[in-house]
Amino acid sequence: MKTLTVLGSINADHVISVPHFVTPGETLTGSNYHIAYGGKGANQAVAAARLGAKVNFIACIGDDDIGKTMKQAFEQDGIDTSAITTIKNEMTGIAMIQVAQSGENSIVIAAGANRHLDQALMANFTQEIQQADCLLMQLETPLPAIIEAAKLAQQHHTKVVLNPAPAQQLPDELLQHIDIITPNETEAEILTGIKVTDEKSAVESANVFHQKGIKTVLITLGSKGVFYSDGTHSKIVPGFRVQAQDTTAAGDTFNGAFVTALLENKSVDEAIHFAHAAAAISVTRQGAQPSIPTRKETLAFLT
Ligand code: ADP
Repeated sequence: MKTLTVLGSINADHVISVPHFVTPGETLTGSNYHIAYGGKGANQAVAAARLGAKVNFIACIGDDDIGKTMKQAFEQDGIDTSAITTIKNEMTGIAMIQVAQSGENSIVIAAGANRHLDQALMANFTQEIQQADCLLMQLETPLPAIIEAAKLAQQHHTKVVLNPAPAQQLPDELLQHIDIITPNETEAEILTGIKVTDEKSAVESANVFHQKGIKTVLITLGSKGVFYSDGTHSKIVPGFRVQAQDTTAAGDTFNGAFVTALLENKSVDEAIHFAHAAAAISVTRQGAQPSIPTRKETLAFLT
C-alpha cells in the first residue's frame, strides 16, 4: 500500500456562536461554545486516513491535555503519530472562532507548538518524507521547513502536493518543487495576481503556476466545484449539490480525499469525483474534524 506523509498544523478550535462579530470594547454573550479538533494539517491527515490512506503525520503538540487527547484521536483514526513531537513548556495551537448568524466565520489563531515545526525539527523526520509516495502540506507551520521538505521530497521522487492555505505570497524557491497545487479562489488570486471569476480567468491563473514549473493545478471553487488544469487540458468539474451547514474543512477534506484516491492509482477525474463527494458530505456537518466522512460513508454517498 502506498504511503502519505502529511506535514502541518494541529489546532484546537474554540468555537462560539455570536449574534454578530464582537466590536472594539464590546463584551458579547455567545452560545453553543465547544472545542473541535482542527488545524489544516490535522484535518487533511484525518481526511486521508478516514478515507483509506496509510498516513504518517509530521506535526507538533504542546505538553498539555488537549494535545495528548488529540494525539490519541489521531491514533484512533489510524494515523501513524510517531512523528508528532510534544514541545515542552508550550501550548498546543488554538483557533478562536466566532460564528455569526450569517454563517460567516472570524478566526484568531495562536500557533503555539506549530511554530516549532522548523527545519531543525523537520530534519528528524527525513525518512518519513523520503520513503513516502506523496507529501501533503499547507501553510500553517514555518515556511523554511516546508521549503526544505518539498526539496527533499522531490529529490526522492515523493510527489509534493501543496494546499497554499492560509493565503500568502510564496517564493519560487518553494513553488518550483511542487507537483500539484490546490488553492481556493482567494489563494489563487494572492499567489498569481489574477482574480478567478470564471473559466477564462482560472486558465490565466493556472498558467502562472504552470510557468513556475507546477504540473497540476486544482483551484477549488466552493459550491461551484473545482477548476483543473495540466497545462494542456483544463476544465471545471462541478461538485455535488447538498444543503450546506458549515463549510469548515471543506477544502481540507477535498485535499485529503483527492490525494488518497491518487495513491490508489485512480485517474485525476476519479480522484476529483471522490474528493467532491467527501467534501460535500463534510459541508452538511458542523465543525472541522467531526465533519470529515469515512470511506464507507463516502462510497455510500456515491452509490
Ligand atoms: P476552502 O474550504 O479551502 O475554501 P472550497 O470552499 O473551495 O475550499 O471548497 C473545497 C471543495 O469542497 C469544493 O471543491 C467542493 O468539492 C466542496 N464544497 C465546498 N462548498 C460546497 C457546497 N456548498 N456544496 C457542495 N460542495 C462544496
